[in-house]
Amino acid sequence: TPAPAPTLTAHALHARYGGFQALDGVTLTVPPGQITAVIGPNGAGKSTLFHCLAGTLRPAHGQVRLGARDITGLAAHTRTRLGIARTFQELSVFPSLTVAENVRVGAEQGRVNDPAAVDRALRLLGLDGPVRTLPAADLPTGTLRRAELARALAGSPRVLLLDEPAAGLDSTEVSALARVLKALAADGTALLVVEHDLDLVADLADVVHVMTAGRIVASGPPGHILDTLGTLGAGEAGP
Ligand code: ADP
Ligand code: MG
Repeated sequence: TPAPAPTLTAHALHARYGGFQALDGVTLTVPPGQITAVIGPNGAGKSTLFHCLAGTLRPAHGQVRLGARDITGLAAHTRTRLGIARTFQELSVFPSLTVAENVRVGAEQGRVNDPAAVDRALRLLGLDGPVRTLPAADLPTGTLRRAELARALAGSPRVLLLDEPAAGLDSTEVSALARVLKALAADGTALLVVEHDLDLVADLADVVHVMTAGRIVASGPPGHILDTLGTLGAGEAGP
């Protein structure tokens, strides 16, 4: 059996944009075999946290750790090689490449470049039919989101970071996404999901963290957290 995925940890992260404090001391863990969710109103700092974990933003203070290793100073592409894969809130597939070519890029940039993992990812996301040879340009949002997730999975990641993976999906696609993410967690992947869809969070998450104004103001199992949202001053968790 493969070694379990390491825990990804954010420790006391502070981040700023110019003079604006976007993260004000955020600590959380993303353990293997679990789905960790982050919710909160627009502007709370969810994507900023995500960028610090993925390596696309350098925090002003604090650390990001993968297992015992301090990876705070590592570039995003180096983290991808270590097994931290991500998707983007704004989709980032290459429009001129086919779906399958996009997914192959994920394997080339990932922890392991394994053609079998490319086929597995395409199959898992229902992209192994004729759509695999179509250029990504002009495909519907739902298909692009699936292609982007397949690309992240193609590199056999141990940690998966998803920023608003259900945005633009219809309810059938959201159900399919939930099944895929639960299967990945059951296989031992560590998942962090930033998500507006609270029904999806309630269905998926083992632990929910509520962010407001750059801080985590509540953490716990979804049943408890989603029931008490109104009393947290977190306002609407939707967009
Ligand atoms: P969320 O994902 O929770 O909606 P973000 O992390 O995107 O929030 O943004 C947190 C805050 O930081 C917001 O007030 C946003 O306007 C600000 N912000 C985000 N990105 C930038 C940036 N590149 N430059 C300046 N301010 C930014
Ligand atoms: Mg965001």
